[in-house]
Amino acid sequence: MAGKICVICGKEKRSNQLLRHKNLLLDTSFSICRDCANMVADFSNEDSVIEMAQFANIPFVKNLYIDVKRTSKNPNFGEYLKKIAPYKNFKTFSDSVFTTDHAEETVSITPELESRWGKGYNEEEYAYFENVLQGLIAIKPATTAFEIQRYVANVKLKDALDKAFMDGDSKAITALRKAYSEDSKDLGFDAVLSGNDDSGKTLGQRIQGWELSEPVPDSDKYEDAAGLKKYIEKWFVIPMKRTFGVASEKEVESLYED
Ligand SMILES: [Zn+2]
Repeated sequence: MAGKICVICGKEKRSNQLLRHKNLLLDTSFSICRDCANMVADFSNEDSVIEMAQFANIPFVKNLYIDVKRTSKNPNFGEYLKKIAPYKNFKTFSDSVFTTDHAEETVSITPELESRWGKGYNEEEYAYFENVLQGLIAIKPATTAFEIQRYVANVKLKDALDKAFMDGDSKAITALRKAYSEDSKDLGFDAVLSGNDDSGKTLGQRIQGWELSEPVPDSDKYEDAAGLKKYIEKWFVIPMKRTFGVASEKEVESLYED
């Protein structure tokens, strides 16, 4: 027999149809197929995702679960595994994190949140930004207002990249991927994050690796390089200038425009 039997559907599957699970009780003849994992883990039902993670002996990490729900067109267990792959701290189900710590799935919009992230987002979006920021701080504590500002800019770049993926915006993906990976490297996150079989690569190279495996649509769809430049100005350059006190009034005002 070439393949293995999926213990959920009972069908024989080839190795590329199987999940990379860590359930040591499944011997060499049996496994879990990707189709079944994606069917069992319903991303509108958190418990079902926890159950699948437990069965596959994969960590359930609430922030990453929320991240997949938010950024994938078709959130499924395969997408979740991709998200979790670079985190060396999360190996098996016993490493699970079931809460988002101090952050909630929605927050009340306060002037502090608006000045940190800009105006015009909804409660879920602010909560998501705060979650990601708390995640960065948990990995590598930020102690000064300047460092926090740099983390905020990094979260903004990540968000812009996620949105570019959702829109299938290949030109934006290329530019934002470069900006985001360089920024993450500057912040030193490549020393903390590490993929299992990617040792020796920088975070930037790994991000490129993951994102090269994402479907990228035709490149003639999007030509708005000016719009992209504006976005990076707004979320990266001007906040930095403001932090140093060298942003003009007009530039600061532009942060609050849509
Ligand atoms: Zn199956």
